[in-house]
Amino acid sequence: MVTFKSLGLNAQLLKAVEKLGFENPTEIQTKVIPLLLEQSKDLVALAQTGTGKTAAFGFPMLQKINTEQHNTQGLIIAPTRELCLQITTEMNSYASELKKINIVAVYGGANISEQAKKLKRGAQIVVATPGRLKDMIKRKMVNISAIQYCVLDEADEMLNMGFYEDIKDILTHTPNDKDSWLFSATMPHEVSIIAKKFMHQPHEVTVGTKNSGAKNINHHYYTVAARERYQTLKALLGLHSDLFGCVFCRTKIETQKVADRLTDEGYKAAALHGDLSQNQRDAVMQSFRKKKIQLLIATDVAARGIDVDDLTHVIHYNIPDEVEIYTHRSGRTGRAGKTGTSILFATKSDQRKIRLIENKIQTKIIEQQLPAPEEILKHKVAHWVSQIKSTPLRSELLPFVPDAVKGLEELDKSLLVELLLSRDFKEVDFRENYNSAEGRKEKKYDREERVINAPEDKDRFFINIGARDQYDWKTLKDFVRSYLNLDRDDVFQVEVMKNFSFFSTHKKHRKHVLNAFEDLVLDDRKVIVEETKKGKTYSPKFFSKKNKKKRR
Ligand code: AMP
Repeated sequence: MVTFKSLGLNAQLLKAVEKLGFENPTEIQTKVIPLLLEQSKDLVALAQTGTGKTAAFGFPMLQKINTEQHNTQGLIIAPTRELCLQITTEMNSYASELKKINIVAVYGGANISEQAKKLKRGAQIVVATPGRLKDMIKRKMVNISAIQYCVLDEADEMLNMGFYEDIKDILTHTPNDKDSWLFSATMPHEVSIIAKKFMHQPHEVTVGTKNSGAKNINHHYYTVAARERYQTLKALLGLHSDLFGCVFCRTKIETQKVADRLTDEGYKAAALHGDLSQNQRDAVMQSFRKKKIQLLIATDVAARGIDVDDLTHVIHYNIPDEVEIYTHRSGRTGRAGKTGTSILFATKSDQRKIRLIENKIQTKIIEQQLPAPEEILKHKVAHWVSQIKSTPLRSELLPFVPDAVKGLEELDKSLLVELLLSRDFKEVDFRENYNSAEGRKEKKYDREERVINAPEDKDRFFINIGARDQYDWKTLKDFVRSYLNLDRDDVFQVEVMKNFSFFSTHKKHRKHVLNAFEDLVLDDRKVIVEETKKGKTYSPKFFSKKNKKKRR
């Protein structure tokens, strides 16, 4: 069996491996570590993030540098500030048993003289983003003229972001005889140019198939109409209560909109896009890493280099235009031996694109159907139950328990649970249409007609306002209740159809309801409220005829 020891790591690094709890080397580590330890050679490694590639170049670099000397011997260039900081943290954890080692991160958006001060103390390894590094070279704040090892990490991302010229420039300040190790998830033309131009007969290592998604990712898709995306996302959140993931949107506006809607509805979500300041981005990422945020809604550009382990899901809110983007997004889940799921929202006309992605990643993307809304609600309730059961007990509350028990004494257990459920699921719209077979049926019904059965002790009313006026049952209930100056529970059984709606009140309010709306005009349309007749069929035709008559 391959062990870190058999790969040739020294005792100090093995101790760090043990402390980190790494049991076995990953594929890239098995292939790369002995190679880099034994030979002085250039390397091109095709490996996705999450394969353990940082350790694959990190351990050999740490073993080879001379900690007795203070000059910069190793340089690691990475596309983003986030990745730069992550590599630095990882490298420091691998170096935890080494004495006299100094690893310094230099990146944009932070105080340059602070970074220069740290470098002055002597940094054997510098981890840098291209722009800031170039700037510091120009200002003579960093000296990379004697480096022996140079890593270009996520080379494809760096070139994607337009760093080609910067990298070319940086490399001219490094010695010719250094070892260059290039890591990239994919091998676009530009990366091979860099390899040809700046490397000497590099050794090539590939983990998995070129340009393919990692093996431990399940690929799924849902066929959705454009307007169903949000509801589908919410249904998925209901189905997978412990989902911790990233939703990729096409534009900044869409990203912000989805995040705002989710937060408004009580989900722990946040947007990450280019319009945020660096501080805002940092705050979002910190909360996400600490799992205070369950869902990160991001644009592709903003999410570059983001490296958060344990993502259970990656959701493609829209199908990406390029297969490479799909692979990049999906590669953020299923990392370090864990299994993840990539979910694609596709419209009917996206089928051809799906086949294209399947061909490239050589994996089938399996179509899924959402279960009925009741099934999703069942999951939510099960999650609610398990959350209650796993709530940590607070002993300070113990003295108040007897009184609370007494106060609830007359309620039997199932009534008590019903009350708690009603309180905690107040916001759930039981008529919400998910993108399920049932949902579709319901929608059809909604569009066509509704037969009325008025309850005996209550009055049921028709009102010519509906979903097309941007109302749902909650907002309509609020509107009717406040307009009539009634209490919260006085208006009930609110049902919103596309063109019209129904609501009930107690018989005693009948006159008030019928009189109150007499003169109300909304958006140039006379509001019609009338008592429904038992057994009568209401349909859009009825609505338009009525409307015309009243307008005249
Ligand atoms: P990377 O591909 O370098 O971004 O690594 C992804 C994650 O895997 C990091 O959090 C590493 O700490 C972790 N990791 C790297 N090597 C191993 C290993 N051999 N066993 C378990 N986890 C690892």
